[in-house]
Amino acid sequence: MGHFKVNQRDIFFILKDQLNYGSLCNLKRYESIDEKTLDMLVTEAINFAKGVIDPLQEIGETQGLQFNNGKVKCPPEFKKAFTQYGQDGWIAAARDTEYGGQGFPHMMRIVINDFMYGACQPFNMAPSLTHGAAHLVEHFAKEELKKIYVPKMFDGKWSGTMCLTEADSGSNLATIQTTAFREGDHFRIKGSKVFISWGEHDLTDNIIHLVLARIDGAPEGVDGISLFIAPKIRVLPDGSLGEPNDVSCSSIEEKMGLHSSPTCVLNFGSHDGCIGYLCGVENKGLAHMFRMINMARINTGVCGMTLASTAYLNALAYTKERIQGKDVAGRKQGNVPIIDHPDIRRMLLWMKSMVDGMRSMIYTGAFWSDLAEELPEGEEKAHYENLINFMTPIIKAYCSDMGFRVCETAVQCLGGYGYCKDYPLEQYLRDVKIMSLYEGTNGIQAMDLMGRKMQINQGAPFLAFKKEIEKFCNSNTSHPQLGKQIHELIRVKDRLCAMADEMKNRMKSDPLQWASYTYPALLAFSETIMIWRLLDMARIAYAAVEKAGENDFYTGKINQATFFTDITIPHVLAKIETCLRTEREIAEMPDSAF
Ligand SMILES: Cc1cc2nc3c(=O)[nH]c(=O)nc-3n(C[C@H](O)[C@H](O)[C@H](O)COP(=O)(O)OP(=O)(O)OC[C@H]3O[C@@H](n4cnc5c(N)ncnc54)[C@H](O)[C@@H]3O)c2cc1C
Repeated sequence: MGHFKVNQRDIFFILKDQLNYGSLCNLKRYESIDEKTLDMLVTEAINFAKGVIDPLQEIGETQGLQFNNGKVKCPPEFKKAFTQYGQDGWIAAARDTEYGGQGFPHMMRIVINDFMYGACQPFNMAPSLTHGAAHLVEHFAKEELKKIYVPKMFDGKWSGTMCLTEADSGSNLATIQTTAFREGDHFRIKGSKVFISWGEHDLTDNIIHLVLARIDGAPEGVDGISLFIAPKIRVLPDGSLGEPNDVSCSSIEEKMGLHSSPTCVLNFGSHDGCIGYLCGVENKGLAHMFRMINMARINTGVCGMTLASTAYLNALAYTKERIQGKDVAGRKQGNVPIIDHPDIRRMLLWMKSMVDGMRSMIYTGAFWSDLAEELPEGEEKAHYENLINFMTPIIKAYCSDMGFRVCETAVQCLGGYGYCKDYPLEQYLRDVKIMSLYEGTNGIQAMDLMGRKMQINQGAPFLAFKKEIEKFCNSNTSHPQLGKQIHELIRVKDRLCAMADEMKNRMKSDPLQWASYTYPALLAFSETIMIWRLLDMARIAYAAVEKAGENDFYTGKINQATFFTDITIPHVLAKIETCLRTEREIAEMPDSAF
């Protein structure tokens, strides 16, 4: 039986009522699309996720992967699903039509991934990485390489990877050792990469690795890193397959979760036979790769949120069926479903608010990313570029960490059964943990937010956020039902901005103290954004009730917003106080005293 659950009404409420996503069709690139077509795409993506991807979750977990003689064998159902995924256009739904994309708004890639990752996280990494790798080739490679590689990756004939990490280069890529030796119009790649997701498998005839390496003689540090295309099997000029390209997989990791996603050690050029092609400009490889990494960071937030979403909905279904204990107020005779217990209801309402708030935060960022990409050059475009810049580390870190917390709370709702394999929750909990670790750990995200995003362009990303949240607050201060919560939001926002200014100063004057509290600062920003998004949904629900009368759906939106705001504001204020501490235990604790 399928495990994946999704509440379509919640999804469409954000897309239509909150964001008016149909308005994207007014942008030049989407002139030929209308809102109805977008609605159909969403519904079809949900159907595909339920029909084709959902069954892979259990198959992947029970059958797992086999590794023999450098080859990874996946369950056969994975190959069939990957082929269909490509042929039906899901890999490149939001890419330009020139190389085989479907031309939908960029935001739809995020929305589609919401369902595909929710249905089977370990599988969906394969098409998602393929999309990212193909997009790098599409964006940076020479025309002849684009023509050969991109269409085959977009339609799922070949897959793609991102090869950054090395044994001694994880968070710090400046030290990577993989080397590219110039040889005519191409390079010979030599080196080892670790932790490469879907680095070896049997889903496709070829795997196209996007590899960070240092051209022999290039400068030290990040300014000497270039990006290369290194196929597993060499590709002849007519696009047909040639000899193996000396890329070998020496092992796959045994992991806590993601059991059906191979995490590989890849060796490039062990026999000096790995040919690679430069993708983009020499020594600009890390900056190029960041185009993919930024997308991948948002997708990591999507994974955290969507696993939280299906975990919440699974827990909700269980709490309606499980009969245990008496009603605390004696309202009903006999034993009652556990959803009647206030402690269970508290967890359900918190999870509901978290899921809806995170989804709104992510979809809002995705909507802004279309405006940032597609508006003509000017102030408005720059505003959205700054906003998405600011939101990326928040979406990545908050939604991944909180995805884990929500999955853990969902397990709690099921009692002992939540800990058992009969229900999908224990797997969600194991699978979701990786999100806080890869694509830049959450500690690194917090430093990016409180460092780079506060500094670049005189703090333009932070100022864009400030402007946007103030616009919301100022237009809703006298709201008849939500006024109290809006005033609280204003109070907390002002404190938060003052804290950000103080931390900006500390970054220079006392970097140890600054770095000790970047993570709670990221949480304080994230929770403030959650409150903002939930109150915005509540405002829309309130207007709908005014127009059409009471309705449980809208009551839910208002209740979750007032509940979440009231219970979260004290936590935000406490975090702000924490970040402003002057005591220096973290920085000055002797190592031997830990
Ligand atoms: C399942 C899985 C799949 C992966 N897939 C891929 C993939 O497809 N491609 C790829 O290239 N990589 C991949 N990775 C690698 C992943 O991106 C790295 O594991 C991650 O970047 C962290 O690097 P590390 O493990 O070396 O940890 P480290 O860098 O050693 O970090 C350890 C801890 O120290 C902290 N830390 C490190 N440096 C600093 C600093 N300067 N300031 C503050 N704190 C710091 C970190 O936040 C972390 O908490 C994958 C990893 C896993 C486990």
